[in-house]
Amino acid sequence: ENTQQKQLIELHEQTVKLYHHILTNTKMGQPALDYLHQRGVSDDTIAIYQLGYAPSQRLLKPFFDERKTDFQLLRKSGLFSEDQEGNLRDRFVDRVMYPIRNGGGQTIAFSGRLLTANSDMPKYLNSPETEIFNKRKVLFNLDLARPNIRGKDPAILFEGFMDVITAYQAGIKSGIASMGTSLTEQQIYDIKRITHEVVISYDGDTPGQKAIKRAIDAFNQQQSHVEMKIISVPDGMDPDEFIRKKGADAFKQLITHAQAPIEFELSYLKKQFNLDSEVDQSHYIAEALKLISQVDSGISRDLYLNRLADEFSVDKKLLSQQLAPLTRKPT
Ligand code: ATP
Ligand code: MN
Ligand code: MN
Ligand code: MN
Repeated sequence: ENTQQKQLIELHEQTVKLYHHILTNTKMGQPALDYLHQRGVSDDTIAIYQLGYAPSQRLLKPFFDERKTDFQLLRKSGLFSEDQEGNLRDRFVDRVMYPIRNGGGQTIAFSGRLLTANSDMPKYLNSPETEIFNKRKVLFNLDLARPNIRGKDPAILFEGFMDVITAYQAGIKSGIASMGTSLTEQQIYDIKRITHEVVISYDGDTPGQKAIKRAIDAFNQQQSHVEMKIISVPDGMDPDEFIRKKGADAFKQLITHAQAPIEFELSYLKKQFNLDSEVDQSHYIAEALKLISQVDSGISRDLYLNRLADEFSVDKKLLSQQLAPLTRKPT
């Protein structure tokens, strides 16, 4: 960490305080505070995550000007956008502000959410990449989750940071999330360093299901020897909605009944085919055999093979013969 990085982090810490103060102690912040309360976010949670509000009136630039903060530093912080004349203006306007912290608990960026979703502007606006913020490296909440993950709980990987925050508030404190990107090599590396157990809990909608498939592939590609479990949140809800509607215990039940990756992949695969057609059936069976061939345990492979044979009333011996050359290690 060089001097400039330290200064940038210090700038962020001051910004956290200002936005948090505006949210919690001013009239300007009241609509944003109402928004958070309506979403079920408690005052404790607002304090823990140091949530804030960037008002419509741009006051971050004047705030730092008053303190004679170096212009070049402000320029590199990502907290401002630059107009054609080179003037800086607050980047975040009328947004609920979520500080993004690194693994060491230092604030290195923000994500700002509109109070009401509206189609012209993105719902979430993140800080741009800076000297201290590389969104492909960040795991949201890692600083708070790490001790719990190391202690006992599996890491729970969420899609959005609101899922992480709602889970934390409900007492499920080992949640982490990437910053709206698919999982990167670096993030998987960081997860591997602290645990061998990951529960993937993405949104129950179609993009969420696709993202689960990508996450499983990414973990497998790194031969990470991490044991994955997959949660399917029902009815297209996301974990945040689910926990608020059904409660933490119901979510813990989902964890208890989480699927092995192969189970998820087989049912995901099945959805890609029209199984009324026999041509599709045989394609599905061929692809399913490829997935089953990658299961490490011979006994598990046998069980899945039985299931497949029953499901399509095909001869298990025939399936076995097709599986054999695909299987990497004999057990
Ligand atoms: P909310 O409940 O506040 O509507 P969410 O947490 O359910 O939001 P999703 O829409 O499911 O968010 O998106 C998951 C994640 O993807 C978010 O946490 C955010 O990091 C990222 N994301 C979503 N929309 C955008 C966007 N328009 N621009 C940048 N990132 C986004
Ligand atoms: Mn989503
Ligand atoms: Mn949501
Ligand atoms: Mn979501």
